[in-house]
Amino acid sequence: MQSNLAYFVTNLLVVLGVLVHMLRPLTKSSHKFASFKGVQRLLTRCKSDNSIPTKKYDLVVVGGGSGGLACSKEAATYGKHVAVLDYVEPSPQGTKWGLGGTCVNVGCIPKKLMHQAALLGEAVQDARKYGWTVPENGIHNNWETMSSAVQNYVRSLNWGHRVQLQSKNVEYLNAKGYFLDNHTLEATDAKGRKKRIVADNFVVAVGGRPKYTEIPGALECAISSDDIFWLKNKPGKTMVIGASYVALECAGFLTGLGFDTSLMIRSIPLRGFDQQMAHLVTDHMASHGTNMLWKCVPESMEKLSDGKIKVTWKNTETVEAGSDIYETVLMAVGRAPETTKIGLDNTEVQLHASSGKILGEHGGDLERSSVPHIYGIGDILEGRPELTPVAIKAGKLLAHRLYGNSTVQMDYDKVPTTVFTPLEYGCVGLSEEEALDKYGEDNLEVYHAFYKPLQYSVAERDASQCYIKMICDKEGDQKVHGLHFLGPHAGEVLQGFAVAIRCNLTREIMDSTLGIHPTSAEEVVKMHITKRSGLDPTVTGC
Ligand code: FAD
Ligand code: NDP
Repeated sequence: MQSNLAYFVTNLLVVLGVLVHMLRPLTKSSHKFASFKGVQRLLTRCKSDNSIPTKKYDLVVVGGGSGGLACSKEAATYGKHVAVLDYVEPSPQGTKWGLGGTCVNVGCIPKKLMHQAALLGEAVQDARKYGWTVPENGIHNNWETMSSAVQNYVRSLNWGHRVQLQSKNVEYLNAKGYFLDNHTLEATDAKGRKKRIVADNFVVAVGGRPKYTEIPGALECAISSDDIFWLKNKPGKTMVIGASYVALECAGFLTGLGFDTSLMIRSIPLRGFDQQMAHLVTDHMASHGTNMLWKCVPESMEKLSDGKIKVTWKNTETVEAGSDIYETVLMAVGRAPETTKIGLDNTEVQLHASSGKILGEHGGDLERSSVPHIYGIGDILEGRPELTPVAIKAGKLLAHRLYGNSTVQMDYDKVPTTVFTPLEYGCVGLSEEEALDKYGEDNLEVYHAFYKPLQYSVAERDASQCYIKMICDKEGDQKVHGLHFLGPHAGEVLQGFAVAIRCNLTREIMDSTLGIHPTSAEEVVKMHITKRSGLDPTVTGC
């Protein structure tokens, strides 16, 4: 019965194809040509693969990371028939992981836990000053114990995500999605079994993967953030290449865990962030043991007979060459979207010419691609911050718009973020450079303070990089445009201020807010020295 039907459909499509082919010279419309291409693709598939089962859904989400999971679960609450595909291609070094995407497995979560492990080491040093007996020969971190504890927690999250999908009636397919055309996705599982999927709407949420520089030996010798959290053995002496979030955070916790760590920076640290703050971050790292290689680029890597790696580099200013031998080289030179590997060239989804990310903002919807029923969320959407809360919120709001009669769009403005370096840097709103560009120096006031977290006093820690900066209008009630905080627990401190800034926080309101004493966060509301005044911004006394 089924094969008769397939025979009938195939012949019908052949007739249609011939008709379209005959009519083609009569029309110059690219849209009609596209439908001709579509019919041809359908024909090819029907002729060759009518044995592959096809399933229909209301919504199919490709990618089970932060954005994809949030969107699929939210859509299912409207009683929709939803599937989410998640498939992890092993890293070039062979590392694999479970459901949940980058954040859970090779991003935010293991990173923050290893950052915490490093902070604890520092806290134990402080403990001596607070009267604790700490072994005279110092303390040591056991990588195997720490990483297996982190990995076990990550595995529990993988499991939790599977259970949640099941309880919310979202079908989970551990399969790789590949678009055959605007309406059809092919899902291939690890055993090569294929399924055809058609849906009313598709959401692409496939995230990105670390890039490698194209220098000899890089792919064979270096690991990336996809591997570092899953290393079975301690990394040892490590070279980290890159100067943004991933590089700084990894170099920070590796130094804190006691590894001899170097950081190779080709230009500026934390491009796009306030540069005064970024340089304070790197000053703190340098003074806490990270070996900084400024203005250097790697030239080659070579695996030696003892398994170590010889890295050679060049200083781009002095043109001097350098080289050293490391046990681990970590590439953190940015991420490439997975959009180029999922058959989008078989669809009419437009990608950004250089980044390869999906171009949104079609039909008045920020996440809609050039194909009205295909959407992009999270790291693969062009021009949007690559952050977990961004992907989650965009996914949830999209589900509400698709099925809940909502019209609420994602607000990508004033997204708060924190770089989890040994001294954390949190910010929301404009950098000083951006504010000067946008409003001009004469219209802005910058309040700032160097402060000493109370816990540093007994511990006799150096607080010279603990700094806060607020950028606001010079006149009127002084609307706040940007807030930057460098110090312990920056993420925790900044979260509440991010709410206030969304509510159009002004310096006037800040000034009338009482601090919570004694905290570092109270220094934010107490700031009163302006940069313009030239007065010493160091906070003194209680
Ligand atoms: P992802 O979470 O990357 O999920 C995409 C999923 O799709 C993956 O599971 C992938 O395997 C799967 N996939 C890919 N192709 C296919 C296919 N063809 N078929 C099926 N499945 C496919 N953000 C923060 O907010 N805070 C942090 O502290 C933070 N730390 C980070 C640390 C590191 C080291 C890194 C690398 C990132 C960090 N991020 C952080 C960023 C955050 O992880 C990402 O912004 C977030 O995970 C993006 O979510 P997503 O849904 O777009 O994609
Ligand atoms: P980014 O794209 O932000 O930065 C790439 C870095 O690599 C830059 O410093 C760049 O230098 C450098 N680089 C690029 N190519 C080379 C090269 N050939 N040789 C040497 N250096 C090179 O990438 P990340 O991977 O750090 O971060 C990706 C995203 O993940 C971030 O934008 C962030 O949104 C997210 N993330 C968030 C975190 C958080 O919230 N705490 C933590 C980690 C990641 P240059 O400036 O000179 O181009």
